Parts: sequence; C-alpha cells; structure tokens
Amino acid sequence: MRYSQMLIPTTRETPAEAEIASHRLLLRGGFIRKLTSGLYTFLPLGLLALQKVAAIVREEMNRAGAQELLLPMVQPADLWQESGRWQKYGPELLRFKDRHQRDYCLGPTHEEVITDLARRELRSYRQLPANLYQIQTKFRDEIRPRFGLMRCREFVMKDAYSFDVSDEAASKSYEIMREAYHRIFRRLGLEFRAVEADSGTIGGSFSHEFMVLADTGEDTLVICNGCDYAANVEKARVVLPPEPAEREEAAAMVKVATPGMKKVERVAEFLGTTPDRVIKTMVYLADGEPVAALVRGDREVQSVKLKNLLGADEVEPMPDDEIWKRTRLPAGYMGPVDITIRLVADQEVMGMVNAVAGANEKGYHLTGVNPGRDFRPDVTGDLRQVTADDRCPECGAALTLTRGIEVGHIFKLGTGYSEAMNATFQDSDGTEKHFVMGCYGIGVSRVVAAAIEQNHDEHGIIFPLPLAPFQVIVLNLGVNNEATCRAAEQLYNDLRAAGLEVLYDDRDERPGAKFKDADLIGIPYRVTVGRTWEKEGRIELRSRATGETSTMEYADAAGRISAMIRDELAARQ
Ligand code: ATP
Ligand code: MG
Repeated sequence: MRYSQMLIPTTRETPAEAEIASHRLLLRGGFIRKLTSGLYTFLPLGLLALQKVAAIVREEMNRAGAQELLLPMVQPADLWQESGRWQKYGPELLRFKDRHQRDYCLGPTHEEVITDLARRELRSYRQLPANLYQIQTKFRDEIRPRFGLMRCREFVMKDAYSFDVSDEAASKSYEIMREAYHRIFRRLGLEFRAVEADSGTIGGSFSHEFMVLADTGEDTLVICNGCDYAANVEKARVVLPPEPAEREEAAAMVKVATPGMKKVERVAEFLGTTPDRVIKTMVYLADGEPVAALVRGDREVQSVKLKNLLGADEVEPMPDDEIWKRTRLPAGYMGPVDITIRLVADQEVMGMVNAVAGANEKGYHLTGVNPGRDFRPDVTGDLRQVTADDRCPECGAALTLTRGIEVGHIFKLGTGYSEAMNATFQDSDGTEKHFVMGCYGIGVSRVVAAAIEQNHDEHGIIFPLPLAPFQVIVLNLGVNNEATCRAAEQLYNDLRAAGLEVLYDDRDERPGAKFKDADLIGIPYRVTVGRTWEKEGRIELRSRATGETSTMEYADAAGRISAMIRDELAARQ
C-alpha cells in the first residue's frame, strides 16, 4: 500500500480526552476516530490491525474444531424473557421497539440466540459435541465508556458456545477452549495470564479470564509466587491463618464517646488501639435491600464476593445520606450490635476478640465487642479483598498483586440456559436431556488496545509482528532523486512479491516526518532507501522493537527481510 494513497491522519498533538497510552496512540496514529461516547470508527490502519487479531482467533477456533456462523445483532425480547435476563441484565442492555411495538435489544452477548438455535437444530446426541462461534459487533450501554477501544459501547467480540451431552463432556470442551486461548494469546505475542474468575451476569459455575499484563489494566490479579495459582481479586480466596493458641479473655462491652471520629484510623488512635482491632461496618444496597458488611478495620470489602455470598444480582455501596434516610444508621458510627438490617460478616471478623465497633449512635463507639456473644451475623464467609500480605490458598506461598486487562473470558455454564429455555436433545438411551453448555469470549477490538498498552514507548506503538497492520514500512528518502525513487519502488514490489505486507512511504515529506510517523504507527520493520543507497548501494533495516539497525546490499534485501519475517512468525506458531 502506498502511504500517499492511504488515509492515515496522524497528529502530533496529544488528544486531551485520552488518559492511557493505547487510546492516545490509536488516535494520534490515525487508527480510530471517535463518533460519540463509546462509538469509534476504525480507519484503514485500525481495521487492518483488527483483522489481524480476528484472523488468528479464527484460525485457532477452527483448529480447535469450532464452526463459524453469524447470528443477528438485533435480538427479540421474548428469548431474553425466557432466560430471565430481560429483567436481570440492567441498563447495559439497549432495548428498543420496532414499528409493531415489539421489544428488542442489541446483542451484548448471544447465549439466548444460540440456545434457541441449538434447541431447533441440534436434536440428537450424534450431533454433539458442537461448538459454534462468531466474530461480531456487540453493543453494551456501558455506564462509563472510556480508554478508547478498551471499554466501548460498540465493540468487536468473538463469542463461542459449546453444547455437550454431559458435564464430563462439557469439561472436555472447556479444556479445548482453554488451550486454544493460550495458543491465541501466545501467537499474538502478548504477555498474559489465565486467572480464576467470577462468572458475572453471564452466569455459570466456573470460569477463567485471560489477562494481558499492563499497569493501566482495570483488573487486579493475584499471582502465586510458588505455584500455578492465579486469580482475579474478585475471586481470590482468602485463607485464615491458624487460630492463636491463647485467646484474650472477653471483656465487658462499654460505650465510649468518640466525637467526630468517623474514620477507622482516627477511632483506633483515639482509643489507643490499632485498625486491625476495629470492626468496619459498610452498608450496601443488594438488589434494593440495605445490608451491612463487616470486615476488619484494615481490610476492604470485595463487592463481588459480597454479591456472591448474598446470592444477589447487584450490589452497590450506599451513599451516607441514603443510609440515614432508609435505615437511620449514622455513617461513621455504625456497628453490628443491635443493628436493624441484614448483617454479613467476613470470616476473619468472627475471630476478633474485644473489638471496637460503632454504637449506631452519632458520636459513640463500643469497646469490648465480641462476635457470637454481642452479635450474630445472618451470613458469614470470605468477604474481603486479598492483600499482598495474604498467602496462596493452594500452597501457602507469598502472593504478588498485579494489574491486567481482560481480553478473554471462558465459562462453564452448565444447564442454566438450556433448562430456562428448555433446550434438549435426544440422548443415546432415547431420553430428552438438557444441553450442558459453555461460552467463550474474546474482546477482539480490546486486544488491539491491550497489545498497544503493553507495547509502546515515547515515540509511539511497537506492534508485535503478528498483529501489525503492516510488517514492513519502506521509506523513500530521496523523493526528488529519480534513481532513488525507482530503487525504493522496486524494493516495495519485491517485498510484496515475497508475500510480505508492506507500506510504502512515497510521500513528498521530509525524512524527519517520515521517521516520526513510522515510529508512531509502530510498523515492526523499517527499511530506508536514501543516502546510503545513493552512495554505497546499501539499504538500512531497523527493528521498531529493539531499535537495532543494520545495513545490507540492496540486491539481497528483499530475500533477507522476507526470510527473517517468515522465521519470526513461524517461531510463534
Ligand atoms: P468487563 O469486566 O471488562 O466489563 P465482561 O466480563 O463484561 O468484561 P465478557 O462478557 O466476558 O466481558 O465479554 C467477553 C470479552 O469482551 C471480555 O473479555 C472483553 O475482552 C470484551 N469486552 C467486554 N466488554 C467490553 C467493552 N465494553 N469494550 C470492549 N471490549 C469489551
Ligand atoms: Mg462488562
């Protein structure tokens, strides 16, 4: 492709709205343009990168035995009513009516549509296992679209769905997908981790997320230093240390004045103790009902764990004034003793002795609070966020906390959807059985952003070779010299003839501008035909990733460069 004929509107200015590198560089490099909040146009370069990711995903899905199809993006409400998600899904589901006043939504995911297809078309055990997938635009009316392609409202996803005769067979399908995902992200050249994950609104019992490691990631991952254990903090289990041999004797409960002391640290200091001896009481709205959650004063509530422990669909922190209006509990002075709302306690709280807690009266706390004696929670369990001081739940080794970007998520769904939608097949013994399902997503457009987040420098993007929109950029630095132009043009043609994807910078621009643009758009290899060619008949090759530069005979260049790129790609297969 000739640069002069391609729409690559690079800019020097840093766009004000872009907070993270991938967003900034995708805009500056002329890969995407924003239409409106959460909606982006893929310009030609951006579309090429997207298609690269999609091609690798498609190849590996096919290799794993999945079949590609394409489902409608618009979905009728009645399917969602059957599954129960029309009520459950919340405002991320964009709902609308057609001219006949029938309800529809834009597909945020396709469990309902595919289950409907399966119950019609997969009638016999002989057709199973089946794994069907598509690469398609999804719409989710995200509350805060941000970070460019990272969290859009409209985005490209690969979603696959497996149908099996039994739980055991479904586990096999899940394993096949897990391996395929490892291959995909390895081939894309990304540093990633598969972690145990929460199942979210999709439902199901068991899931893994694939995370690209990057400091700007929205997720926190817990990785064991000693074994293979890795989990999203939303899921990471906390193991309690063994009980101390000697327990402090329980003292009497005493109400003390703590005027203006609303923060755990202040109360602890005022009472001559430490935050780990304070019970922190946080009020949440769980499916519309206020609940109080207890953790040790130096810990944080993990809201996904809270949601799962309560079996709630949605859990959100309640603002202080709301708490007061609905429950008459004074924020900053709340505590578990004689509390009037539902009480959930972290397991660790139950082992505390003579703790400090709010007295549910403004300006007062209680000392000598003892769980079991002074209050009994409705639910207890693992409620708090893991910290770097916790130990691995599997092997007891130390843990590392790090940030990641979720690029893929695989779920064992079980029979939730097939039962709700009565999707059955005839088994070998003649009985009708519900499909055992799995579902498997990859954020194809998010992968492009995640790859850039992980691979960039102050000059621009550094694309891993497998997903670069072009593998090589040829810079003609002698646009006014006819011989140089001919040589550059010939090299461009030779490289293409050797099967490479080449961008030819034939623009009438200064060398400095061409170098800057080449660095910005991140093409892995840059070839310059300029002075060195004019003087010595040699061209210069530079790697964007390492900055290494070498020169070679013009006559050998096409052969050597194509061999090098072929080898590098083959090493990733
Ligand atoms: P998140 O927690 O980031 O919202 P999710 O758990 O809702 O993700 P899934 O329903 O598992 O996501 O969707 C499959 C994949 O689609 C995700 O792993 C992610 O890579 C991608 N994805 C999800 N939401 C978005 C979005 N708003 N913009 C871009 N990609 C997305
Ligand atoms: Mg989401």
